[in-house]
Amino acid sequence: MNEHDRIITGIAASPGIAIGRAFIFDRTGFKVTEHTVADSEIDREIARFRKAIDEALDEVVALQKRIAMKADEEISGIFRSHRAVLEDPEIVDVTVVRIRREARNAEYIFDDIMQGWIASMSAVENPFFRERTADFEDVRYRVLARLAGMARTPLQEMDEPVIVVAHNLSPTDTAEIDRSHVCGFVTDVGGQASHTSIVARGLAVPAVVGTNVATSEIEEGTRLIVDGTAGRLFVDPSPGTIDRYEQAQTEISIVEHELLQFLDAPATTEDGHTVELSGNIELPSEVETVLSHGADSIGLYRTEFLYLLRHGLPSEEEQYQAYRKIAEQMSPRPVVIRTLDLGTDKMPDRVSLNSEANPALGFRGIRLCLANPEIFKVQLRAILRASTVGNLSIMFPMISRVSEIRQAKEVLNEVRRELTAEGTPFDESMQVGIMIEVPSAAITASNLALEADFFSIGTNDLIQYTLAVDRGNPGVASIYDAYDPAVLHLISRVVKAAHDNNIWVGVCGMMAGDPYTACLLLGLGLDVLSMSPIDIPEVKRTIRSACYSDLKEIADHVLSLPNSDEIHEYVKDRLAG
Ligand code: PEP
Ligand code: MG
Repeated sequence: MNEHDRIITGIAASPGIAIGRAFIFDRTGFKVTEHTVADSEIDREIARFRKAIDEALDEVVALQKRIAMKADEEISGIFRSHRAVLEDPEIVDVTVVRIRREARNAEYIFDDIMQGWIASMSAVENPFFRERTADFEDVRYRVLARLAGMARTPLQEMDEPVIVVAHNLSPTDTAEIDRSHVCGFVTDVGGQASHTSIVARGLAVPAVVGTNVATSEIEEGTRLIVDGTAGRLFVDPSPGTIDRYEQAQTEISIVEHELLQFLDAPATTEDGHTVELSGNIELPSEVETVLSHGADSIGLYRTEFLYLLRHGLPSEEEQYQAYRKIAEQMSPRPVVIRTLDLGTDKMPDRVSLNSEANPALGFRGIRLCLANPEIFKVQLRAILRASTVGNLSIMFPMISRVSEIRQAKEVLNEVRRELTAEGTPFDESMQVGIMIEVPSAAITASNLALEADFFSIGTNDLIQYTLAVDRGNPGVASIYDAYDPAVLHLISRVVKAAHDNNIWVGVCGMMAGDPYTACLLLGLGLDVLSMSPIDIPEVKRTIRSACYSDLKEIADHVLSLPNSDEIHEYVKDRLAG
């Protein structure tokens, strides 16, 4: 590092090093001003507006063509909707009429009309029917950018991969961005366990989040180094620093290569205890990464991305094809499909939902599914139908009480009966498990164990709810703590409840993917650790060189320690050797 290098620190969200130029990704940064237009200028103002609409249409058509070549029906559908908005007389003609009548600038009138539509659509009760808002937000942005003369090279046309710098990236933005054009992510907001970080890890793209200042301090095109392992960022680094980081990139590839030698070996400790290592996926395309990183199974498929990466609800057939493909690719290895876990914390920023004061405590996960059985049943039918071709199980998210799992199972049984009546086959012995990620579920795990075939502890949420620390807020990131005794005692309690009732229990939060906490979890008795695929090789190597009896002793002792710092120190000391 050169002493003159400008460094911005943030939160290490996805490991690795990226070197490239900044691409500022900002959907919201338009300040639309209002001014009057002289009578003699009105025709010119209208022509300027029409030109912006035409250019935006050209852009959308070009994008649609490119996507059509990739045969991605879902994304292509999004651009079709954008075209419809850009060609809608209620928007285009009304803007023209109002510019003439009110003698005001095109940006102001157009924005006013779009905001009106967005507000009325956001007011619709059911979140699923509000996706149209996203089309309007996107089109609003596109046209305003053109009016502001901000036409720029689209990401897809950059000739070298860039580092995307954004105030915030929703998980959908992160997943939608074409990986082949992006080598790193940097955001002002976000925490280590925020969904954006999770998607970045899934895509194996180095990322630093929670920098607070990235978008205000970095200019488009500036050369950057993203150190996603250390959580820092070099702005316009010196040639010496670039050299050093290029060398570090080479070293990382060598280590990654070495780690892959354990690919087919089981995660068995030196004294013969084996734990199942699984991969978490957000997109069906990640199955390849899961297999190439030596996973025994998929422990968590976050199906909400099927819903988020498209406009409109995915049909039963669409879902069936997705689940079937994953089941086939993984077979005979198990795949745990988690039912829809949507909530405002996972919605794209550009979709304005009815605001909830506390979205993480709001209408999300199983609550949303139970309140919308028609949507829930479509997903359950698709999963059940796909269960004939592989080893699938179902998992319900955000369970906080016994009545919820009972209700969810009732809906599942109803779907089973319907399929039986139709003569549609499904795996009748498919396991049905639940996520334990709400403290009430952890505390009453022994009751829930009577209703479930397995538990998977979602530590990302369990930590946030137990410690009252928002997992996506960089301001409190330092107290978002997997080593907190409250969290560890809850995990230990859940493991005991599961084993007393002869069901298996795993962890599928990010705690499973860190070698130290993974060892601690093993000592606490977990049967399965499910993590981002990129974390599997290192966790496997660590487990293979550990001794289970030591890990049990470490975990036992940890449960007697009063605070997280002591626990952290102790675990590190014991495992360092
Ligand atoms: C968790 O909460 O730990 C979990 C795995 O689910 P998600 O990160 O999708 O909330
Ligand atoms: Mg969760």
